[in-house]
Amino acid sequence: MKRIVIIGAGPMGLGAAYRLQQLGHEDYTVYEQNDYVGGLAASFVDDAGFTWDIGGHVIFSHYKFFDDFMADMVDETVAHGRESWVWLQDQFIPYPFQNNFHFLNKEVVLECVLGLHEAEKKYPNYSNFREWILHRFGDGIAKYFMLPYNFKVWATPAELMDHGWIAERVSVIDMKMILRNILGQKEDAGWGPNSTFDFPLHGGTGGLFSPMKERLGDHLKLRRKLVSVDPESKTLRFDTGEEDHYDVLLSGASLDQLLPLVKGAPAAVRKAAAEMVFAGGWIVGVGLRQPVPSNKNWMYFPESDCPFYRVTYLSNYSPLIAPSENHYSLLCEISESPHKPVTREEAVEQTLQGLVNTKLLSEKDRDDIVSVHVIRRDHTYPVPFVGRDERLKTLHTWLEAKEILSRGRFGGWKYEVGNMDHSVQQGKEAIDRILNGDAETVYTW
Ligand SMILES: Cc1cc2nc3c(=O)[nH]c(=O)nc-3n(C[C@H](O)[C@H](O)[C@H](O)COP(=O)(O)OP(=O)(O)OC[C@H]3O[C@@H](n4cnc5c(N)ncnc54)[C@H](O)[C@@H]3O)c2cc1C
Repeated sequence: MKRIVIIGAGPMGLGAAYRLQQLGHEDYTVYEQNDYVGGLAASFVDDAGFTWDIGGHVIFSHYKFFDDFMADMVDETVAHGRESWVWLQDQFIPYPFQNNFHFLNKEVVLECVLGLHEAEKKYPNYSNFREWILHRFGDGIAKYFMLPYNFKVWATPAELMDHGWIAERVSVIDMKMILRNILGQKEDAGWGPNSTFDFPLHGGTGGLFSPMKERLGDHLKLRRKLVSVDPESKTLRFDTGEEDHYDVLLSGASLDQLLPLVKGAPAAVRKAAAEMVFAGGWIVGVGLRQPVPSNKNWMYFPESDCPFYRVTYLSNYSPLIAPSENHYSLLCEISESPHKPVTREEAVEQTLQGLVNTKLLSEKDRDDIVSVHVIRRDHTYPVPFVGRDERLKTLHTWLEAKEILSRGRFGGWKYEVGNMDHSVQQGKEAIDRILNGDAETVYTW
């Protein structure tokens, strides 16, 4: 029987372990450096009784395996219609911006429409994300939403990013529909794969993964950080001093952090790993002692009157993730990188001020803040940068020759397949490949 070692009890590693259990394969261990499972999709309860996620997580599924996993893990979910908005020029308009900018003042509408009209002629070619935005949306939409919003999220200049990842992630333009929306002053918010979603009643997003801790029993080793891999002897070493052996290693660790641990990696491979581009983030949760004032779910913030790119009325997702119905929670997300450094103090202070600037809170509401919960993660967004796919090829070609599969959000580094459902499915497909030789379909390189 093949011995499979999985690094990381995030959604990818847990999807893989779940598949191993389904198949009755016993010879495997999951090592996780934290004392909890769920990775970036974990949730935490603070002293005031609020449950916080690591950023707004909307569950949507492309796969039956993920649906079955979710049904098995979660007793009850709360169903939501998508309710998302863009804050711009002192008002909320429905998301996506490009289908709803007609709610803004007439000069902006004109700039956006003229920009759209001229876009392909003015910007006929594109080789990066900035050029793609201008080509597809024109100057107006680029100026008011696409460029500032994307810089806030990715903390990376759009000219350093690729455009090939975008198919499902950015609603592209349908000129006829836009004109119909403008003339009819119609709201068009139904775009996208996440127009409805379910959320676990208990435990926040992490409620989807936490049951796996019990299910895995002795197969799960928490508080073990992988510190070295010898691919010749197939030996792993952990910060506890423990060692283990594998036939196949399936890693969900980020590629830039895994490669320096693997002995004997050629210089070109190490270089490729060191050049991977990512953003980190501050997740500032603000809990209030007040009934929730809005039924909005989440909102996007392209402008500079606040540091966050997105705020979620998290407590609207489930009645059980705030201490009572007289409390509510706002989850604010701020990205950072060397292009956009943010200190903890800036993240907190500017967030609180930003909530006032964007009228989500009044000065007086500040007196009712009963919790400010701060989470920082150095890797939150795997940036689809120009040159990413060549580097991924260099990395996987070498790793897979050593029977090391690297998958998941930062193990695979493909944002376009970096959500929870993709990650769980990647874990499943990696196991089917290792044990049965099946081809992977979600993660390809
Ligand atoms: C801000 C934000 C918003 C998001 N929004 C959504 C959303 O709306 N919808 C959605 O579906 N997904 C969303 N996601 C993505 C979701 O969180 C990821 O898809 C998912 O967590 C990826 O799972 P993973 O297992 O690949 O990686 P991770 O969750 O990163 O898990 C990797 C695990 O490996 C462990 N590890 C790493 N290195 C080592 C080591 N050396 N030794 C031992 N253990 C190690 C880590 O501790 C971690 O537990 C969002 C993520 C972020 C950050």
